[in-house]
Amino acid sequence: MSIQEIPLRFLWNMAYRGVFYLGVYVNAWEGPKTYSLKQLKLNPKDFNARIADVALKLQKHGYDAYIVGGSIRDLLLRDGVVPKDFDIVTSALPQQIKKCFSRSRIIGKRFRIVHVPVGREVVEVCTFRGATPWLSWCFSDRYRNNIYGSIEQDVWRRDFSCNALYYDVKNANVVDFTGGVQDIKNKKLAVIGTCKARFKDDPVRMLRALRFLAKTNFRMDSSCQEEIKRQRRWLRQVSKDRLLLELTKLFNQGHAYASFKALVDYDYLGTLFSGYERLGIKIENYQQLFKSVFHAIDLKYQRNQRLSSSFLFAALLWPIFDTHANKLNKKTTYSVKKVIYRVLKFESRYVAIPGKLQEAIRDLWMLQFLLETKEKPFSEDRYRQPRFQVGYELFCLRAKHNEVLAEKAIMWQSQFESANTNHLSGQTDE
Ligand code: ATP
Ligand code: MG
Repeated sequence: MSIQEIPLRFLWNMAYRGVFYLGVYVNAWEGPKTYSLKQLKLNPKDFNARIADVALKLQKHGYDAYIVGGSIRDLLLRDGVVPKDFDIVTSALPQQIKKCFSRSRIIGKRFRIVHVPVGREVVEVCTFRGATPWLSWCFSDRYRNNIYGSIEQDVWRRDFSCNALYYDVKNANVVDFTGGVQDIKNKKLAVIGTCKARFKDDPVRMLRALRFLAKTNFRMDSSCQEEIKRQRRWLRQVSKDRLLLELTKLFNQGHAYASFKALVDYDYLGTLFSGYERLGIKIENYQQLFKSVFHAIDLKYQRNQRLSSSFLFAALLWPIFDTHANKLNKKTTYSVKKVIYRVLKFESRYVAIPGKLQEAIRDLWMLQFLLETKEKPFSEDRYRQPRFQVGYELFCLRAKHNEVLAEKAIMWQSQFESANTNHLSGQTDE
């Protein structure tokens, strides 16, 4: 029997709840506000019905269950952002959630969560986390993150008030402990607790703050903004995999250019990819390219097309590679490959760039070199490879602001088209 299953947890949650509501009773602090969907001008149909069913099923089994997080924030924003990802939080323990949904799986070490398949989607169901700041000095982060609690404790572990709204599906109301509804109305990104302590506890929250600032156009306290700038190097202590995940999210939500600008404004680009700092790269020199690249990425998002991580990282790290490559006395396949290898090795120091992704970035950069220098046409098979097309797209975006490359791009375009025509006429002959 695990420590979470013994009645101690139950007793602690009851005691916490008792103290919490006693404080509310004696007006020491405010209690939660409950809003009906009507008050918030929302409709139960705004929530994905199949995901709401997951919460309802947990409630039917006697557990508390809520839809929580970004989906409610996005619905309340009412600026056309359609929530794509719904998170559920419950009082059921991971093993108990698993028992309710036969095809579900428990995953994660840092945070144990349950993946419940719903049609083609997978819903993340988490157990309420416990409020355990006093355990920080004697237990590891991993242990603390897997101590379970109740809604009154869970709310204080969330990052921003706008992300701490709980939608109760059965009673069709939203529970707000931290003034999130009002903050959304006032377009305010408010940290739950003090900025310094919360960012120190988990520096990824600073990157998340930049993501929400870019996504929502919210404002943040100037002292918190200062803190985000000042403490940016804390991010270098975070797990590389988490940074890769958060960075990918940052650019894959339809606000890639705004997110990029936030990274630059807060000096995060050089913090995450130190080549920018070491080589003293001036972003202004690549501004036009970045504008085109990130607008292209946002267009893909609007069209529901998948964002290729290799395209994103090949563009994001392009100035570092370009600066190194321009220092070469002679660009040969061998010398360019060596530069690519060194850049990728160095730039994966703080953000994970897994082997396969590195291989794809290498191909895209090599292709830039070939498209610039090669005289003879590529084989027709090569033209049709998806990776070639991604590389060619990057080349065209670079060519938009460079006359020499623009001529090359036109030349390749005509060869590209004739290869496609040959391919099609070949198909009709068969
Ligand atoms: P998105 O719309 O991009 O999914 P989100 O706010 O739902 O935004 P998620 O990463 O899906 O972001 O996280 C779900 C919820 O979990 C958040 O809304 C927040 O309440 C909580 N959360 C996630 N990461 C953290 C963190 N590092 N610290 C505190 N709370 C977090
Ligand atoms: Mg989410």
